[in-house]
Amino acid sequence: MSEKVKFFPGREISSKAIESGEVLTKYYSADLKYAWSTGVAVTRFLQELKNAKIIGRKCNKCSRVLVPPRMFCEDCFRTTDEWVYVKDAGVVNTYSIAHVGTDASRLKEPLYIAVVNLDGPTPGMGFLHYLGEVASEKKIKVGMKVQAVWKQESERTGSILDIKYFKPI
Ligand SMILES: [Zn+2]
Repeated sequence: MSEKVKFFPGREISSKAIESGEVLTKYYSADLKYAWSTGVAVTRFLQELKNAKIIGRKCNKCSRVLVPPRMFCEDCFRTTDEWVYVKDAGVVNTYSIAHVGTDASRLKEPLYIAVVNLDGPTPGMGFLHYLGEVASEKKIKVGMKVQAVWKQESERTGSILDIKYFKPI
């Protein structure tokens, strides 16, 4: 039995009803603070970024190298075995060009965002970051070799942004 609903009780709220005060509203600005633990693997990953190094974890059963590191291999259902450093260079797997910022305003200079397949991790461990020192967006190619450009040691904080961007090599 299918019966179409012909009448919905109540009525829609219009912007006018809110602005005129017909509908009661309360404005509230939440003062929220967040803190969370990065865990063993990501803590070490971030510490190594501060040293201008990229580290992963290797599972000796499936031989995969996980970057960012994880203490658990989801394929083998077991803990990973060892820390391994990987190169801070690789190839562009895919990329996107952003002309609009996070506030929907048009950017003066576009942002180039890429998934980089680093040299060392198992394929499929894409490393999402910015591209920089790109002569023109037409020069960006899938498969293009890129190298991390790190912030100065004094500026590094243990953040993914300790890498400024990846530049073509
Ligand atoms: Zn495994």
